Formats: sequence, structure tokens, C-alpha cells
Amino acid sequence: MAPACTRINSLHVAVIGAGAAGLAAARELRRESHSVVVFERGTQIGGLWVYTPQTEPDPLSLDPNRTIVHSSVYDSLRTNLPRECMGYRDFPFVPRDDDGSRDPRRYPSHSEVLAYLQDFAREFKLEEMVRFETEVVCVEPEGQKWEIRSKSSDGIFKDEIFDSVVVCNGHYTEPRVAHVPGIDSWPGKQIHSHNYRVPDPFKDQVVVVIGNFASGSDISRDITGVAKEVHIASRSNPSETYEKLPGSNNLWLHSMIESARKDGSIIFKNGKVVQADTIVHCTGYKYHFPFLNTNSYITVEDNCVGPLYKHVFPPALAPTLSFIGLPWMTLQFFMFELQSKWVAAVLSGRVTLPSEDKMMEDVTAFYAKRDANKLPKRYTHRLGECQVDYLNWIAEQVGAPPVEQWRAEEVHGGYLRLATQSDTFRDKWDDDHLILEAYEDFLRQKLISVLPSHLLE
Ligand code: FAD
Repeated sequence: MAPACTRINSLHVAVIGAGAAGLAAARELRRESHSVVVFERGTQIGGLWVYTPQTEPDPLSLDPNRTIVHSSVYDSLRTNLPRECMGYRDFPFVPRDDDGSRDPRRYPSHSEVLAYLQDFAREFKLEEMVRFETEVVCVEPEGQKWEIRSKSSDGIFKDEIFDSVVVCNGHYTEPRVAHVPGIDSWPGKQIHSHNYRVPDPFKDQVVVVIGNFASGSDISRDITGVAKEVHIASRSNPSETYEKLPGSNNLWLHSMIESARKDGSIIFKNGKVVQADTIVHCTGYKYHFPFLNTNSYITVEDNCVGPLYKHVFPPALAPTLSFIGLPWMTLQFFMFELQSKWVAAVLSGRVTLPSEDKMMEDVTAFYAKRDANKLPKRYTHRLGECQVDYLNWIAEQVGAPPVEQWRAEEVHGGYLRLATQSDTFRDKWDDDHLILEAYEDFLRQKLISVLPSHLLE
């Protein structure tokens, strides 16, 4: 759908969260002349990327009344995407030669991502829109508008009316825990990766890590340096899987766990048995909107948030309620920026949405396709191979250029390397030509002033 009418509405918009998604939303909404208040329960911008050694008191985070620690970042974490393709489109995530404290690597540490987000917020004066230490505790419709109840750090509640609400609260804080038969009588310790920070507590232990995607792969390797043995259990592996992984002498990959026993043993589906001290669940997270009251119109079932048109607008509540950042396995920051442009332009009336019925038809067709492809509900928001089509579709709505070829190739190759050379992908690659193309593109668009010296050699 092409940008439509010329009438520009300026609305009073609440954004929930000042992570990478909320910052992008705030910027795009203000660019479109909306007045914006960003509610952030933390003390600084950056969301997930604000590393803290603090963890939740309940290591599996099952207690609904626990004190929430937002970030799931561990001390050794480096990005899992190359920095050139990871940043916002018009504010590339390039190394900063002018500051010796920064991490210039292609796959930098978490602190570099936070520093980049701080640069972004500073450049576009975004902090002035943020109300820190203010948690949104309730969002509900009030006539054609929305009432937001927030709680500040001094315990004071405040009710306010907004024309529109953009939800950017992140989705890596509420853990999903694997069900292991027999676990209730198993005597060992269990934690979720949300509460993993450093390997030291696993010294000399036999550790079973469940899950072998980005965090599972990273954390198991982090622990091998101090543990006696590390065994990864993965449900995506065939049941006979049993292999020693390269890069360390105490790391094995198995099929999923068959059961846990009260003598401390863990039995894998491949028949292998280990006496384990700890299980680390690297099994992902749940979408969670504890503040949202839409009279059950929006539900979360098996990690499918719906109904949502293109993962952003709930048809019956559109356009005044929207969600930025739900899809995963994609170029996150780039997607946040595009989704935010779309929301901002729809709210101002520059771009129109289809009718509620048409949006519902689209959602129904999308679910039917998902089911026909035998994808579980929990993969509803997983973009993976469809990401470029999705991003290009949104780009078209807002009149933005499609995903650059170099960026699409980098992310595709990046995921492939992550899957096939998980021990080395951050330091060895074979796509230098794409790095050069990316920087030449930044230069052409005057987003940088010179090519980095290492690319000129
Ligand atoms: P968050 O960064 O989680 O921000 C949400 C914000 O909302 C927080 O500041 C929080 O305090 C605030 N908030 C929540 N609830 C409320 C409330 N009720 N009231 C007020 N404020 C609230 N992506 C990449 O692109 N590259 C990577 O290398 C990468 N690595 C990752 C590694 C790990 C371990 C994980 C878990 C994720 C990784 N991701 C990566 C994905 C990452 O989640 C996104 O890059 C992105 O940072 C998420 O931004 P967000 O704004 O959606 O959420």
C-alpha cells in the first residue's frame, strides 16, 4: 500500500520501553510530529543490553512474584550478527576510532551495543522523551483512547490518557523452561539462561545444557573452560545424536533428554547416561504483557501473540495499539526502525491500513499457511528465511528502499556460520567483500566520512 493522504494527525503517544525498539519508535514518532512519552522502568536506556551481574532470586524464574531483572545478557556475550548489518539503517553500527574504550570487533561485546544505543539516543536527543524508573502497570482502552497507569520508583501511581500506545517491552525476560520427565525427584540444580552471567559457579561440575541455539551454544562453550564435562541436549537433533564438539575437549552434543532420575543421572534419548550436577535451560523466552488489558482480545498462546496484522497491529484495536519488535530471527534494529516508521505514518494518516475485516483475513491466511507448513504456534513470529520479504513489505508501505543486497547476504551467511561453526563464527569469516560493500554504501549515503583504514589495505 502506498503512502496515502496528505492530512497529518499529531497524536499523543505512549511508548512502553526504552530498549532498541522503544528508541526507534520514539524517534520515528517524533519525526512524524507526534508528541511522545517513553515509559522505562529501568534507570537507563538500552533494555536487554544493560548488563547487570545481578540475577533473579529464583534461578528458573518460575515465581510470578519474584523481583524481575530485565536483562538476560551474560558477561562474555558478543553479538551473533556482524555489526554492519545489525544497526539501524541510517545510523550504522560502525567502530568508533575516536574512543579507545570501544570494542571495534565485527562481532563486538554487549557493552559496545549499549554504547552504540547510547550514541543513537544522544545523536537524536531521545532521552528527553523518556520517563525513567516508571513502570507501566496497566494499559486499557478508554473510549477511543488509552488509559495508562504507571508507577514511579517512589511508589506513586499515575493515570494518564494517550491517543495511542506502542508496546516495546522486549521479549527476553520471561523464561520458558523445558519439561524433563522425572525432574521433580532429580536432586541437582537447575537454572535458566536468563540467570546465567559467568561460568565460575560451574567449576568442576558436570553440566547439562538444554538447547543449542545462540545462547545454548555460547553458554555451553563458556562453561567448558571451568566445568568437568558439558553435555548439550537438543530436541532438534535425531535421537541417535552423540558427538564430541570441536574447540574443547569436554563438550558433547546429544539428542534430547529422555529422563532425569533421583540418583542424579540424566538419560539422553541416544541411551547415554551422565551423573549431572546442574541443568542450564537455554530454552528461550515467552512473550509477556502483564500490563495489557484488552478484555482478552489479544492473547498469547504457545508464544503466538494475536491476532496481529503483520506482527504489529491488532485489527480491532488498530491503529492506536501496536507492537514493535515481536518477530525474531531477523535483523532486529533494522526491523524496529521500519515497523516504527509504519506505525508513525499510519497514526499520522500518511499511510492507511486495510479495513479490520481485511486485516483479519490476512491474519487467518497467515495462520493457515503456518499450520499447512506444520510449523508450531510458537514459531508464528519466527521470520528466518522470510525476513527479507517481510522487511521489504513494510519498507514498501512507508516508501523506504528495500533491504540492501549486502545486508540480506550478510545476515543469511551470518546465520549459516552461527549454525555450522559455532565455535569460530565470530572471528573467522569468508565474506570480506560484503563488509566492503556495506562500508561503501555507508560512504555513498554520507553516513560515514571515510572508509575504515583496515578496508583500504
Ligand atoms: P529490550 O531491549 O528488552 O527493551 C525493553 C525495555 O522495556 C527495557 O528497557 C525494559 O526495562 C522496558 N520495560 C519492560 N516492561 C516495562 C514496563 N511495564 N514499563 C516500563 N518499561 C518496561 N539481537 C541482535 O540484533 N544481535 C544480537 O547479537 C543479539 N543478541 C542477543 C542475545 C541475547 C542473549 C538475547 C536474549 C537477545 C539478543 N538479541 C540480539 C535480540 C535483542 O533482544 C534485540 O536486539 C533487542 O535489543 C531487543 O530490544 P527491545 O527494545 O525489543 O527489548
